[in-house]
Amino acid sequence: MKVHCPRCDRRIAEFVRVEKVGVQMAVCRNCNIQAHASYEHKDGNDYWDVHFEHTNRRGDGSLGFAGFLILTIVAFIALFYFFAR
Ligand SMILES: [Zn+2]
Repeated sequence: MKVHCPRCDRRIAEFVRVEKVGVQMAVCRNCNIQAHASYEHKDGNDYWDVHFEHTNRRGDGSLGFAGFLILTIVAFIALFYFFAR
């Protein structure tokens, strides 16, 4: 079972063990998307379930840093205008 990243279309993994183990997980090296696969054999039928996850913890940190940068720039502009008069 081959799984491609939904965002960059890279092949994340080939879930070869999922039918024996039941669950398998892999991460896209390009954009950090996690792929979770599960397999179930029930009532003579086979069920595959794949879902993708992208946690955005680093994004919050960079947003806070950008906000701090903007505040610093605004403060410098205010100071510049204050002394220019
Ligand atoms: Zn990707």
